[in-house]
Amino acid sequence: MMFRASVLTLYPDMFPGPLGTSLAGRALGEAWSLDTVFIRDFATGRHRTADDTPAGGGPGMVMKADVLARAIDAASPEGDPRPRLLMSPRGEPLTQAYVRELSAGPGAVILCGRFEGVDERIIAARNLKEVSIGDYVLSGGEMAALVLLDAVVRLLPGVMGHDQSGTEESFETGLLEYPHYTRPQVFEGMEIPAVLVSGDHARIARWRRAEAERITRERRPDLWDRLSGKKA
Ligand code: SAH
Repeated sequence: MMFRASVLTLYPDMFPGPLGTSLAGRALGEAWSLDTVFIRDFATGRHRTADDTPAGGGPGMVMKADVLARAIDAASPEGDPRPRLLMSPRGEPLTQAYVRELSAGPGAVILCGRFEGVDERIIAARNLKEVSIGDYVLSGGEMAALVLLDAVVRLLPGVMGHDQSGTEESFETGLLEYPHYTRPQVFEGMEIPAVLVSGDHARIARWRRAEAERITRERRPDLWDRLSGKKA
């Protein structure tokens, strides 16, 4: 079963963009498919405008609910089992758990905002789930959609060569990942930790676990507290 992504955007040329290269690019058309919907195709009137001035005044423009509704209905007719997402700085912060949930499903319909964002009414009218990729403001939802899709696609069966690498990483265990090393044995006077070249796999596993815990405690007390809360 293919993961089907449909992206609604005013800038379809931004897709697949970086997702057309490397692992995701090789898997495009195999493990996943991507189609873009040009929102302006659903605008009417002489100027085919997809945005208008904000009610109540203020700067910028707002994407029109009627235009967006037509674009969404064309991309995702009734009965489409895929979740509909709106990339938005007000959304639920994207997590590895949600990425994994999406990757196990049939795909996603992703609406990319521009300008000040979308008319609020489209969110309820088309049951959009708002998703944020972090506490900063982008100029549009396209790069946020690329980030989300990159995270999802690498989890699809057959995309990453080594199947294990999906499950041991940062966030999958609730911890940040342990440090990695590779040859040369000595780099600018710094050696690879002796335990990693000891051949003692149980000791290596214990060291990695301890390092992952130390790094998580030091850098992300929020993650650490959540994890200890879970255990208690
Ligand atoms: N006026 C809005 C920002 C609009 S930014 C506000 O203050 O909240 C324009 C578009 O970029 C948004 O509609 C959204 O689709 C996208 N965007 C910006 N920041 C984002 C983020 N952190 N995560 C996901 N999408 C984002």
